[in-house]
Amino acid sequence: MKYISTRGQSPALSFEDAMLAGLASDGGLYVPEKIPQFSKEEIASWASLSYQELAFKVMSPFVDGEVPDDELRELIQKTYSTFRHDAIAPLVQTAHNEFILELFHGPTLAFKDFALQFLGNLLDYVLKKKDQRVVIMGATSGDTGSAAIEGCRHSDNVDIFILHPHNRVSEVQRRQMTTVLQKNVFNLALEGNFDDCQNMVKSSFGDQSFLPPDRQLVAVNSINWVRIMAQIVYYFYAGLALDAPHRAVSFSVPTGNFGDIFAGYLAKKMGLPIDRLVIATNANDILHRCISNNDHSLETLVQSLSPSMDIMVSSNFERMLFDLYDQDGGAINNLMLNFKTTGKLILSDLALTKARAVFTSYRLDDKTMTQVMTHFWEATGYLLDPHTAIGVEAARKTLYRQDIPVVCLSTAHPAKFPESIRKAGFSNEPELPRYMADLFDRKESYSVQPNNIEVVQQFIADNIR
Ligand SMILES: *Cc1c(COP(=O)(O)O)cnc(C)c1O
Repeated sequence: MKYISTRGQSPALSFEDAMLAGLASDGGLYVPEKIPQFSKEEIASWASLSYQELAFKVMSPFVDGEVPDDELRELIQKTYSTFRHDAIAPLVQTAHNEFILELFHGPTLAFKDFALQFLGNLLDYVLKKKDQRVVIMGATSGDTGSAAIEGCRHSDNVDIFILHPHNRVSEVQRRQMTTVLQKNVFNLALEGNFDDCQNMVKSSFGDQSFLPPDRQLVAVNSINWVRIMAQIVYYFYAGLALDAPHRAVSFSVPTGNFGDIFAGYLAKKMGLPIDRLVIATNANDILHRCISNNDHSLETLVQSLSPSMDIMVSSNFERMLFDLYDQDGGAINNLMLNFKTTGKLILSDLALTKARAVFTSYRLDDKTMTQVMTHFWEATGYLLDPHTAIGVEAARKTLYRQDIPVVCLSTAHPAKFPESIRKAGFSNEPELPRYMADLFDRKESYSVQPNNIEVVQQFIADNIR
């Protein structure tokens, strides 16, 4: 399987090289040249597989033998053995044909663990095989950072630098990153917002001359294809649990960088009968404006009670555009360059029509989200995290087919966002799982950095081992 850039100007890469490359040299993102497809019979034959066995079936066509099957199976086993629930991704029913897919049973309590624990293990395996050392540089709105650090802390061939917006991640999120005191882990609190962090990382990938000649940057953000790939699995897992492929299923996805929901889009292309994919956004609603009104234009970033979705520009949207424009790299290049200069991206009628055939979108502000959390708690005794609440309400507001079950992806454990839960008016703060109960007693280490790329790059150069 070859991987090609969404802007059509960089050479195609192998799976392993696409994993190591991050952003393509032409500014695009890597995608598989062709999406593998499974027949209805084949999907049906997976009904009794464990999560790990299913992960192998779904991911191996993308890996295409570059990692031998036995070793791929071992990496999958190792990855999901750190999850605290036997089902890995359990489904909980909360209303008629409404289900919550709990994706927060990994080591850092958010769905990012599904892909990042796997990426950490895979990266370690590949780097050892190649006898190569790399530098990871990543931006986080809170959850990517801790999951990436957890995934790479034991990897001798990796130095990892994670930028988070100073004072804009929850204390639990920060502590999950900054209490990891390994010598290869560096946390940078940037005096800026998430987009500043992400832009700095993107620019650094574009010009890596600040690194010693024997090092390259590797991405842990969802521009890394491996992240998307690993997330496709749980769409199949949930679908099969609800009797797909014999019936259709819809999904509602709290969306920021568009990585998670893009994995759902791919699951549909691969043969899973998905009826609707709901893009659920907070007040940072560029994707909702795009789908509902063809208005993909920049606005000021708002700080919300669902901080992991406080993102203006969703990197992975470009991967979807590439597909909607029939893999026309030139067209995507033009769209993106134009977006960079004007701050606006207008979809062609055809692309918009195709997008609307699959996606529904909805936006919730903090006030409504808070009401949803309260009502849901009163009705069911189930405490939603703020991101998940947005997804649940978006599904309830936009999906009308009573006969098609909807799966709402629960992207984080509520204990990860105690500030938001308190602001929502809950007096009983959710408890951290037992294995994390001492989080607030652990020693922290991080460095506050100005919103200045030269200073940050110098810090990285000085601290590489
Ligand atoms: C990252 C994250 C999201 C957004 O996921 P994307 O793949 O960036 O769209 C939503 N909720 C939580 C809790 C997250 O950590």
